[in-house]
Amino acid sequence: MNEIQLTAIEGAESRYDENGNEIVDIATCGTCGRSWNDAAISSVTPAPSARCPFEYEHEADEEEDRDLIIRHNLDVIERSLKTIRLALGRGHRD
Ligand SMILES: [Zn+2]
Repeated sequence: MNEIQLTAIEGAESRYDENGNEIVDIATCGTCGRSWNDAAISSVTPAPSARCPFEYEHEADEEEDRDLIIRHNLDVIERSLKTIRLALGRGHRD
């Protein structure tokens, strides 16, 4: 059995058909891979197409990536400056 794990959406209200069965419209995000019941009513569902109710977590991930890139670049610059300072220092001594 291949059951999809649904991520619960805070405050989502289930909708039911005339027979009392919960209406389930599974949507999956291509970015974070989460699946949710898009038929439930909440502040973020039904989600407009190509939108994800967990987008705020996407942004957090991207921000973390940016921080890592900036920190890495600063590291590279620092090492380059050290190399330049060493080279200049040697130049003076000669
Ligand atoms: Zn997502």
